[in-house]
Amino acid sequence: MPDLPAVSVRPGLPSEVRIFEVGPRDGLQNESAVLPAEVKVAFVERLAGAGLRTIEATSLVRPDRIPQLADAEQVLTALASRQLGEVDLPVLVPNLRGLERAVALGVEHIAIFGSATDTFARRNLNRGLEEQFAMFAPTVARAREAGLRVRAYVSMCFGDPWEGRVPVEKVVAVGNRLFDLGADELSIGDTIGVATPGHVHELVGAFVDAGLPVDRLALHLHDTYGQGLANAYAALEAGITTLDASAGGLGGCPFARGATGNLATEDLVWMLDGLGIATGVDLDALIATSRWLEGHLGRPSVSRVVRARAAAG
Ligand code: MG
Repeated sequence: MPDLPAVSVRPGLPSEVRIFEVGPRDGLQNESAVLPAEVKVAFVERLAGAGLRTIEATSLVRPDRIPQLADAEQVLTALASRQLGEVDLPVLVPNLRGLERAVALGVEHIAIFGSATDTFARRNLNRGLEEQFAMFAPTVARAREAGLRVRAYVSMCFGDPWEGRVPVEKVVAVGNRLFDLGADELSIGDTIGVATPGHVHELVGAFVDAGLPVDRLALHLHDTYGQGLANAYAALEAGITTLDASAGGLGGCPFARGATGNLATEDLVWMLDGLGIATGVDLDALIATSRWLEGHLGRPSVSRVVRARAAAG
C-alpha cells in the first residue's frame, strides 16, 4: 500500500521527528527468547537499512543480570565492523564499570537508567531516589570526559505500581538533577503504560514551566493500556520531537506479564507518515524487518501495522 496512509498535515506539529529505536535493547531484554548474536547484529543492520538513525544496540549490564543481552560485547564488536552509514548506536550502561567497558568498545553514546520514584529506585537500583544521583555522578562525569553523549532514562514518570500516580513536580525535580549531572537528553518513561494525553501535556508543560529544554526531552511510551499513539500525538502537540519506539512492539510490559509493552515503531511511523512528519524511515522495510524477526522469536509481532500488513498478505 504505497499510497497509504493518506497524508493530512496538522498545523502546530513538528515537521520532523527523531525516532529513538529501542528494539534491540529494551525490546529484546524483555523477550523470553534469547537470540543468537548474529541475529541481533542483522536486526540492527536491517533497522539501519530501514532508515532508523538512532538505534539503542544493547546493554552492558552484568551478563548474569540480563541473559538476553549477555553477548553485548560480541554484538558491539561485530557492529563496529559493519557499514551502517550515519547511525548512532547508544548503549545502556548501569555504572562506572559498564562505562569503562563501553569506552573500551568504542561506544560514543551511552544511556543510564534512573527512576522518578523511590520504590522503583530501591527495587531496580538497590538505592533510594536521592542515592541514585550519587551513583550516576561518576559515570556521567567520566562519560563526558571521554567525549561520550549521555541519555538518562527516567522510569515511572506517570505512575508506579507501588506508589500510584507520580506527581509531575517530582519528575521535573529528578529530571533537573539529571540535567545538572550532565545528561544531554532525558527519556521520560511511562514504564507501566498508564499515561493519558492530558497527563502528557501536564508533565511536558511542567518541564517547560521549570525552564528545562523541551528539545532535550524524549518520551518513552508504552501501549499497555492502548494509549501509546494518543500519548505520542499529545507529546507532539506539547513540542516533543524525539520519541522512543520498539520495532514490532518488541518487549512486553515487565510489570504486567503478557501485556503489551513498548509502543511499536511501525505504528508510530504510520501515524507520523499520515501527518506528513518526516522520520527518514521506510515503513515497508521496517515491517519486513519485524516479520523477519518473528521467525527468530517464534511469535507474531504485536504491532497493529505489522499485523494488518501480514493479514493483507
Ligand atoms: Mg520500554
